Amino acid sequence: MNGCGSPNNRSAAATAPALDRVRQMICSLHGHDLLLHFEHDRLSLRCAACAWESPGWTIEGRQVSPSPDEDSS
Ligand SMILES: [Zn+2]
Repeated sequence: MNGCGSPNNRSAAATAPALDRVRQMICSLHGHDLLLHFEHDRLSLRCAACAWESPGWTIEGRQVSPSPDEDSS
């Protein structure tokens, strides 16, 4: 009747996004499982369950050097 000849391969295309949606639904209920995510010039929060990522913070080219005074010997 309809679609004679068009392959009905919805399973391959729909599986991964459906999983992400399920995970995001779980996250919306329980909250994201946030982990700190470091990049070379950026710091952000990323969800371990659904790969949601916060806008994050840009790290300007400053490096905080640890002071040698803090050495407790
Ligand atoms: Zn999440």
